Amino acid sequence: MRLCRYDGDRLGLVRGDQLYDVTGVTELLPAHRWPLPAGDDLIANLARLRDPIEAAAAGVAPTAVASVSLLSPVANPGKIIGAPVNYKKHQAEAIADREINYDTDIKTIDRYGLFLKANSALVGPGEGVALRFNDRRNDHEVELAAIIGKTGSNIPYDQALDYVAGYAIGLDMTVRGPEDRSLRKSIDSYAVLGPWLVTADEIADPDNLDFDLTVNGEVRQRSNTAALIFDVRKLIRYASSFYTLQPGDVIMTGTPEGVGPVDPGDTMVATVDGIGSMTVVVRAA
Ligand code: MN
Repeated sequence: MRLCRYDGDRLGLVRGDQLYDVTGVTELLPAHRWPLPAGDDLIANLARLRDPIEAAAAGVAPTAVASVSLLSPVANPGKIIGAPVNYKKHQAEAIADREINYDTDIKTIDRYGLFLKANSALVGPGEGVALRFNDRRNDHEVELAAIIGKTGSNIPYDQALDYVAGYAIGLDMTVRGPEDRSLRKSIDSYAVLGPWLVTADEIADPDNLDFDLTVNGEVRQRSNTAALIFDVRKLIRYASSFYTLQPGDVIMTGTPEGVGPVDPGDTMVATVDGIGSMTVVVRAA
């Protein structure tokens, strides 16, 4: 099942290039008063909403996906987790390029651990990326994003995928510089998630997905998640050994080689096998 959020918080079931407005199903979510529970309600309740979503779709006429503005399929993640230097060839290019490494030694994820991107950075593809600090290099990083479906701590490797609700495409946009990653990668709109959530049952093996990113039609990044240093299970095991994972938490799994600058006016197209493609326009903030 493919679920999108679009046009002012509507919920859509995506089939091919069409979507079915199933927003009414959100009435089945619990009503809350302050303080809100941790996690994203839609993701936390996804399993029991699947039948109502299918039933709702049967009663409406479809709309072309291309005619709507896609928002992040996760509205309220508790945290957005990043995986630094999780592909060997990206490490190699970072070591070779002073504009990436800023005179720091570039190790791999087993040395750095993880980082967090601010939730306020989260957007969907329809909102685009608004670049700040245009005197500095702003890079694209295309990544497979795993969306956590249930609460877990110290999750074992061989059970890790049981905790995944689904997958999406992530863009871990980055301003290069000497500051901590959590700052440079948390600018408003620097966490793009989309085009929709594909439920985990549709992705047989998240560690064998071809993916790529083009800028203005030119291929910049092309890899396969088989090249991940920490694969999806290991990222979940490792992250949950530090903090409790909750429904709606997003893990951006890391970017392969080919990172490079974007400028206002550029159009990025990110594609992940088994998920789809998303088009993201870059503008000045
Ligand atoms: Mn990244």
